[in-house]
Amino acid sequence: MKTEKVRCLIIGSGPAGYTAAIYAGRANLSPVLYEGLQPGGQLTTTTEVENFPGYPEGITGPELMEDLRKQAERFGTEVRFGIATAADLSASPYKITIDEEKVIEAQTVIISTGATAKYLGLDDEKKYAGMGVSACATCDGFFYRKKVVAVVGGGDTACEEAIYLAGLASKVFLIVRKSFLRASKIMQDRVINHEKIEVLFEHNTLGLFGDNGVEGAHMVKRMGEADEERYDIAIDGFFLAIGHKPNSEIFKPYVETDEVGYIITEGNSPRTKVPGVFAAGDVADSHYRQAITAAGSGCKAAMEAERYLSEKGL
Ligand SMILES: Cc1cc2nc3c(=O)[nH]c(=O)nc-3n(C[C@H](O)[C@H](O)[C@H](O)COP(=O)(O)OP(=O)(O)OC[C@H]3O[C@@H](n4cnc5c(N)ncnc54)[C@H](O)[C@@H]3O)c2cc1C
Repeated sequence: MKTEKVRCLIIGSGPAGYTAAIYAGRANLSPVLYEGLQPGGQLTTTTEVENFPGYPEGITGPELMEDLRKQAERFGTEVRFGIATAADLSASPYKITIDEEKVIEAQTVIISTGATAKYLGLDDEKKYAGMGVSACATCDGFFYRKKVVAVVGGGDTACEEAIYLAGLASKVFLIVRKSFLRASKIMQDRVINHEKIEVLFEHNTLGLFGDNGVEGAHMVKRMGEADEERYDIAIDGFFLAIGHKPNSEIFKPYVETDEVGYIITEGNSPRTKVPGVFAAGDVADSHYRQAITAAGSGCKAAMEAERYLSEKGL
């Protein structure tokens, strides 16, 4: 297989990857960045981004990512289309296979492959993507001020998102498949006692409807039971909070991950347990999952890569 040696390999082209690329490029690391299946990352699937600093009028996700790519290229990052399909991080230089046809031997690796939100698998989730369906309350909640929304999920994240949205929306349905919440007792109490939140236990969503975006959801209570009930609820927004899948599979044998697959880094840094291998952005952050926090950790990862190379005299 063809091999190529690079000083700094960045895997992923979201805010973390491009920010790492800007810093690594300006530090003369000649970074090579592979974009993966989704060039520009998750933000390319959204319209307005209103909370990324520096854009007082907001900016569309694709425009923001295009700007970040150009900024990365301006400082010498080579941005390539390709997917990391295998990794060998057992010894330096680290070997990353691209598209099963080429091996990059990298002195430093920045893993910024993101985390993918889980959906229920309804066709309507795709139909109304960006038109009422969201997997991020912090990102999109603001668009639902004084409106009615539903949150799907029964864990801590779902409860947190429901409470966050209740601070903006006029009413929040929390749709829970089981007859109980999996969330911690304290979160359960906050949700159950919140005047704006109505918990729909033992409910499943069958579909969404609406002519101009989401206007409601088809619900079923106690699906498959003798007393099954079907009815519709009127909602303006449908938020998924049933988890994310970090894109860390090929790195798992070498770096530490939590039970979900998020890469565990050292303290507040992007250092993994493999020297010279760093993780930035959503793939290592189960908590914040924002563009600006991803960008911040991309910056840290590139700074760490530069220090590592200079300490090793590479
Ligand atoms: C619909 C939507 C709206 C959002 N709105 C906002 C918002 O308004 N404000 C905000 O701050 N955040 C928002 N977010 C969250 C934000 O998009 C993420 O927090 C951020 O994109 C995470 O950046 P990242 O660089 O870690 O990863 P991502 O953006 O997820 O990028 C991951 C990158 O890794 C690549 N990749 C994955 N696997 C491989 C592989 N094997 N080989 C090579 N490349 C690979 C992908 O192609 C992609 O380019 C939104 C998210 C969604 C889904």
